[in-house]
Amino acid sequence: MFGSFFNVVGIRVPLRGFLQHTRSICPHCLHTLSWYELIPVLSYFLQLAKCRQCSQPISPLYPIVECSTAILFTVSFHHFGLSGSFLLSLLFTSLLMIIIVTDLYYMLIPDKILLLFTPFLFLLRLIETSIPWYEVLFGGLFGLVSLAIIILLSGGGIGAGDMKLIGVMGIVIGWQGVLLTLCIAALLGVVVGYCLIMAKVTRRQQPIPFAPFLAVAALISLFWGEDIIQTYFTLWKSAFLFFCR
Ligand SMILES: [Zn+2]
Repeated sequence: MFGSFFNVVGIRVPLRGFLQHTRSICPHCLHTLSWYELIPVLSYFLQLAKCRQCSQPISPLYPIVECSTAILFTVSFHHFGLSGSFLLSLLFTSLLMIIIVTDLYYMLIPDKILLLFTPFLFLLRLIETSIPWYEVLFGGLFGLVSLAIIILLSGGGIGAGDMKLIGVMGIVIGWQGVLLTLCIAALLGVVVGYCLIMAKVTRRQQPIPFAPFLAVAALISLFWGEDIIQTYFTLWKSAFLFFCR
């Protein structure tokens, strides 16, 4: 349900105004989709991944985003219960789903989507965690500056859109979350990038969208960040004590 909406927003916003067409259409033949072609996940499989009118393949991204959204909303509820953090998590997940779609389709992170979500994320985080506003802001700035440094050092490959995105992420997950997100995203990027080259899906030097990696990493940080950081330091402490004995 929500996942389908994020697909639509992600695909349409970079093209034209916000949801100018009220009805969903096939991007190839522009035929207006009926209700039974719009059932999340199910329609995709019933139509054998093809448009009923023009037989053009439907991107597997549709059911993947729909399923992931449903799973992430469930995880959010399971993790936070009915609370402000749950609301924050829903909003954050929604933003990331839309960004994953726009980045995979167009290699683009629209400013208007980031601008739409940022004030709400900022306010919710402020209300929910009762940390002062400048600390929330610091998380965002920390994200912006970290990625700016990485862009300068790496000399390209990562865009300004990714930088703004991690700035918004920093507001929600704080500076520790940003550090963890960058580590996980880099690791995922290397592993997945290597697999794609091996499978001959992409060529070496061909840029691949980085936002999906950042998004997955940020969600891991949101849900399990504290546990991961704590385990990490416990391991170091154990190793330190072991070698100093
Ligand atoms: Zn079609």
